[in-house]
Amino acid sequence: MRRRIFAISVVAVVLLGSTIFLTVMSEQRKAQTAYMKDLFAMDTFFTLQAYGPGAEGALELCARRVQELENRLSVTVEGSDIRRINQGLFSDEEMADAKIDADAGIAEDTFLLIKAARELGEETEGALDITLYPVLREWGFTTGDYKVPDEEVLWELLQKVDYTKIQLDEERQSVLVPAGTELDLGAVAKGYTGDCLTELLKERGVTSAMLDLGGNIQVLGAKPDGTPWRIAVKDPFGGSKMIGVLEVVDKAVITSGSYERYFVGEDGKDYWHILDPSDGYPADSGLVSVTVVGESGVKCDGLSTALFVMGKDRAVEFWRQHPEFEMILVTEDGKVYFTQGLEDSFECGKGWLAEEIPESSGD
Ligand code: ADP
Ligand code: MG
Repeated sequence: MRRRIFAISVVAVVLLGSTIFLTVMSEQRKAQTAYMKDLFAMDTFFTLQAYGPGAEGALELCARRVQELENRLSVTVEGSDIRRINQGLFSDEEMADAKIDADAGIAEDTFLLIKAARELGEETEGALDITLYPVLREWGFTTGDYKVPDEEVLWELLQKVDYTKIQLDEERQSVLVPAGTELDLGAVAKGYTGDCLTELLKERGVTSAMLDLGGNIQVLGAKPDGTPWRIAVKDPFGGSKMIGVLEVVDKAVITSGSYERYFVGEDGKDYWHILDPSDGYPADSGLVSVTVVGESGVKCDGLSTALFVMGKDRAVEFWRQHPEFEMILVTEDGKVYFTQGLEDSFECGKGWLAEEIPESSGD
């Protein structure tokens, strides 16, 4: 009798053990399964990759969220908040009020993003200016109908460019801009989108994801095996040898470069899409690309554009005063500079001359 009980117990334990083992294995497999979602949005390709049980459904929600954000933030989508601001609906007090009363104000997303961009404008002393739209349009960067504008026309248009004139009412979440002011969130919208998607994935229990939003990379957690994500930094000269590899966990890695969108003028010169708000011409600061690494996508995105405008010396000075991000700069002569905080996580590619930027200037 005793023996039988013993034998039954052994069988039971083995069965239970193997059931637990199989369940754990299958859970682990689920946790390792990669789900992908490709979409075309915000004028570029998005590839979203997430792991784990809730990932598949969460990615569907992400795709919908991207659509919603584009419909609010795009400068070209008819009826978007930005379009309505640019059409003058929020450029005089009475009309703006009427719109809000009619419950046709702007979405919270739009308000928050304009607010963040305005703050970054202040921090960067106007190197980032989301009121540049009339100037960008004159160059044809919004339509692809490129031309080098007349200097006088540029000067005229620049009179309307001034982010400090954007008035935000916190309580009512409303915006008011001077007549003729037009906004373009192109420098920050993808970073904001990355932050929203990361948040959404977290809420759905996803702990490992990599979002590629047209070259803007945002990662959630580490890779499913616990090791950091390895992100390649592209060669801004168009060659095949990448600048290097960055190892990151829970970070945004965002690059702005003159190589991303440009045209060749009748004079044979290159003109690119990042403009210096102080003169309305493509920022000719000696940099060809700026990669910013940090926690906040919207900040990294805004900074990548602003630091490109500032050029190496001003960018380094700015970084020393704002230690919450790291950066990699590539100059026209092909040199790579990376900040001290990336010492252990940035591995420079073969053939590039790299130099570390120390935290203190040493003088
Ligand atoms: P990308 O869109 O290629 O990822 P950026 O994040 O650097 O690159 O954003 C560039 C876009 O931002 C331009 O296409 C333009 O719409 C807008 N822009 C250009 N210069 C500025 C600037 N100085 N301040 C604010 N926005 C700018
Ligand atoms: Mg940017």
